[in-house]
Amino acid sequence: MENALHSVFYYSPDLAEYDFGADHPFKPERAQKTLELCNRYGVLNQPHMSVKEPPSLGEKLLLLGHSEEYLGVLQRISEGEIFEEMLQFGVGTEDNPALKGIYDWSRKCAGATWEGMIGLLDNGIDIVFNPLGGFHHAHRSQAEGFCYINDLVIAIKEALNRGVKVTYIDIDAHHGNGVQEAFYREDRVQFISMHESGKYIYPYSGYVEESGEGNGEGFTVNIPLPPKTDDELYLEAFHQIPLPLIKRFKPDVLVAQLGADSMISDPLTDLMLTNNSYAQIVQELKGLCEKILATGGGGYDIYRTARCWTLAWAILNDMNPKDEFAGLVGGMMFGPEMEVGSLHDFPYTVTGPEKDQIRQEVHKTLSVLSQRYQL
Ligand SMILES: [Zn+2]
Repeated sequence: MENALHSVFYYSPDLAEYDFGADHPFKPERAQKTLELCNRYGVLNQPHMSVKEPPSLGEKLLLLGHSEEYLGVLQRISEGEIFEEMLQFGVGTEDNPALKGIYDWSRKCAGATWEGMIGLLDNGIDIVFNPLGGFHHAHRSQAEGFCYINDLVIAIKEALNRGVKVTYIDIDAHHGNGVQEAFYREDRVQFISMHESGKYIYPYSGYVEESGEGNGEGFTVNIPLPPKTDDELYLEAFHQIPLPLIKRFKPDVLVAQLGADSMISDPLTDLMLTNNSYAQIVQELKGLCEKILATGGGGYDIYRTARCWTLAWAILNDMNPKDEFAGLVGGMMFGPEMEVGSLHDFPYTVTGPEKDQIRQEVHKTLSVLSQRYQL
């Protein structure tokens, strides 16, 4: 039977080649690894799919998410200027270096997420994935956490202008602070972030008490998790809080920030997930909304990130990825799946007294949240 979906994968080789510097953990080439892996597994060659080049966002649309002053600063930096005031805007730090071309690069990354949203709302598209998007830490006038332009905020504002309701779910290991801030008083956006607790890592926010303000009260949901949370507890949290809340909210569009830095091998975080829970969550999200805009995000083990994103793309398109080259190259494994010989990780579970302690902490958080959101 022919697949009834219409889906778009955004990609540009130039954007994937952009370099934050040898010592910087953020590697846009993850997008290229993902594209290659998707091709290899035969999940990017279906008639209902297209691969599109990201357009560049003009200033009028960038202003949906950022101040004019900040955009001017980014533009000057992008042209190679270095000046002291840039630090007030968060640029020129170790995390957010003053990179030549950063404005143009970010405008295109954001262009893909924005155009993806338009495709969902106006052009009959059902599934969009932008592996070069998901910059959830950028603020209105401040770069932060490797993020300069907040593509998510811009795309969601565009959706609100067209009168639709949006659920934003963020499974990156870090709290989606920039997106939370933009919609904190908004009841047409349901913001949900599952992350390693701000007690332990950047951006040191995303506590259960942060639940929105004014009209937005109750529409911001934060699920902070302790270090070493594994698949079992992570899935339990997802089933208990986000799943019923999204069902209750009934969004027209679901925006999913699918950062892959919650994986066990990620060098920057302490969660202990495998892509088995990641894949299951994407599968369950797929069942919650007919229009899904998915983006990348964190993910500093680049091969594992490519496996996560390939799985996500396949699942969103109702496909079962198969290695097209299995047997043809004598079973030889290439980079991304070399560790396990498959897209899926080996299962991993934390055990013993350590697990009991983590379980207790997670259960405490879930019970506070269940009460707060009347679940
Ligand atoms: Zn992250």
